Amino acid sequence: MDGVGKQEGDVLVLGATNVPWELDAAIRRRFEKRVYIPLPEPEARSVMVKIHLGDTPNNLTESDFDKLGQMTEGASGSDIGVLVKEALMEPLRKCQQAQQFLPIGNYLVPCKQYPNCAYCPPKLSTDPPNKNYDCSRCGAKRMQLWDVPSEKLKAPDVCVEDFQSVLRHSHSTVSKEELEEYENWTRQFGQEGA
Ligand SMILES: [Zn+2]
Repeated sequence: MDGVGKQEGDVLVLGATNVPWELDAAIRRRFEKRVYIPLPEPEARSVMVKIHLGDTPNNLTESDFDKLGQMTEGASGSDIGVLVKEALMEPLRKCQQAQQFLPIGNYLVPCKQYPNCAYCPPKLSTDPPNKNYDCSRCGAKRMQLWDVPSEKLKAPDVCVEDFQSVLRHSHSTVSKEELEEYENWTRQFGQEGA
C-alpha cells in the first residue's frame, strides 16, 4: 500500500502493485478503480533524462533530448535514472583512457582518440625515457590521467554520444511479455491511466 489520505471525512486508500494478478477477487473488488500506469512515453522519457541530468555540464541540444526519448523505448523511470548515472561516468572514463591531453587555456582536456592527429609522435620501445612526445602539429601532450595536476584537468562535458554508448549495452528491465500481461489484466479488470 503506497499511501492513505483523507478526503472530506472519507478515507482514500491507494495501493500500487507490480503483480496485480496476485490479488484475489475479494481484494480486487475493494479497490473500486484499478488503473494501469504504463511505461513513460518518448516525451516523458526525454523530460526524465533532462531532470536527472540537472545542472551537470553537458552539450545536449533539444533535438538530442528528443532523440534520447526515442532511443529509450521500453525504459522505465528507474531505467532512465540508471542510464543517466552511467552516462555521467563517461567523461571520467574518457579521462582514464586518454593517452594524450590537449592544452586548452589553462586546462588539459583528454583527447578522444589516440593518436590525436596523424603527426603525433609514436612511442617506441627504443626511445629514451625522457624524450618529449608532445605533438608539434596538434599540440597534444603525451600523458595519462595521473600525470595531469587535478586543478588543470577539464573533463569533457556530457554529450549525446555518452548516452548512445551506454544504451548500446543496456536493456530495459521490463520485458515485452510482462507488458502484455499488464495489458491483458487491465483489459480484464482495470482501466488505462496516463
Ligand atoms: Zn598530433
